[in-house]
Amino acid sequence: TKLRVGLLFGGRSGEHEVSISSARAIAKALSAEQNASKYEILPFYIQKDGHWLAGEAPQKVLGTGMPLLESQESISEGHLIAQSPWQSPSQVSEVDVWFPILHGPNGEDGTIQGLLTLMQVPFVGSGVLGSAMGMDKIAMKMAFEQAGLPQVKYKALTRAQVWSNPCVFPKLCDEIEAALGYPCFVKPANLGSSVGIAKVRSRQELEAALDQAAGYDRRLIVEAGVVAREVECAVLGNDQPKASIIGEITYDSDFYDYETKYTEGRADLLIPAPLPDAIVRQMQDMALQAFAAVDAAGLARIDFFYVEATGEVLINEINTLPGFTATSMYPQLWAHSGISFPELVDQLIQLALERHSIG
Ligand code: ADP
Ligand code: MG
Ligand code: MG
Repeated sequence: TKLRVGLLFGGRSGEHEVSISSARAIAKALSAEQNASKYEILPFYIQKDGHWLAGEAPQKVLGTGMPLLESQESISEGHLIAQSPWQSPSQVSEVDVWFPILHGPNGEDGTIQGLLTLMQVPFVGSGVLGSAMGMDKIAMKMAFEQAGLPQVKYKALTRAQVWSNPCVFPKLCDEIEAALGYPCFVKPANLGSSVGIAKVRSRQELEAALDQAAGYDRRLIVEAGVVAREVECAVLGNDQPKASIIGEITYDSDFYDYETKYTEGRADLLIPAPLPDAIVRQMQDMALQAFAAVDAAGLARIDFFYVEATGEVLINEINTLPGFTATSMYPQLWAHSGISFPELVDQLIQLALERHSIG
């Protein structure tokens, strides 16, 4: 009998559309010849307003690639599960293994992983801790620091510090300027896709960026800016994970912002990245250390800054549910390392089962 894979996609974050593209690619891979006899897909679509849909509606979204918006009229009776999976145990209980392919808050941050853990069904990817640590840039950087991984100078802040006291704020900005200088990057701690991130070059821009970032998250981070190449490594596995070859992102914009990430033709992937062998090995080693430092599982993409002038490698971040479309860096890195997309999806599901059985 086939293993029923609950493909969970869409979601409430700004990366809803990316999630749909990732899910389409994974669904295609599960239907590919080598997987079709092994797996059956049960798609679950989380709408932007948080409603869970099962049955024909998610099939339709997978078919068209277009989000289904709030209007319930287009969704025929019986296909709407409800606000959460709890209210509809029938469809949910048919799933043997979950494949959550949700990016950003509510999907990549441990919330869904907590729900799936409570349901006691195996799922692909990191658990609650690894997901939460990987999403929060402050917690992530503290874990990397503890592991001895080199990274840019940074300062952690809270919304309360930025917003509450007008006497404290100038001092805060003085401290940031003294510690990090310009340009620096102001970021909400718990987002992705460069949302809410600003590169600032003056006191005025710093103040505005802090105010903006505080609108996105309670926790903020400011980092010293580096001039560097951006390179990425894919990691696959549980307790004995392996690192892929290295890929590079190139673009013409000021930095790798939202528009550059998601506008067709604005960024290019270069695989493998032209790098000295010793640097590649150093990055692979650092990627595995970073994976362990946040307790990631299954998959993660680790992003680096390579300061070519000095030969320095700095870790930027880990992404525990990286983009997974046919053209995304994560599957492309494995394809160039000898693991095809359908094989990759198969391995991830087997890793989920392995992790669940070990506990
Ligand atoms: P996200 O999780 O949203 O991808 P990142 O921390 O990776 O956030 O930042 C997005 C992009 O902003 C990076 O890919 C890079 O182009 C630029 N960037 C971020 N931090 C720095 C920094 N400290 N120095 C130089 N560029 C940076
Ligand atoms: Mg990220
Ligand atoms: Mg990033």
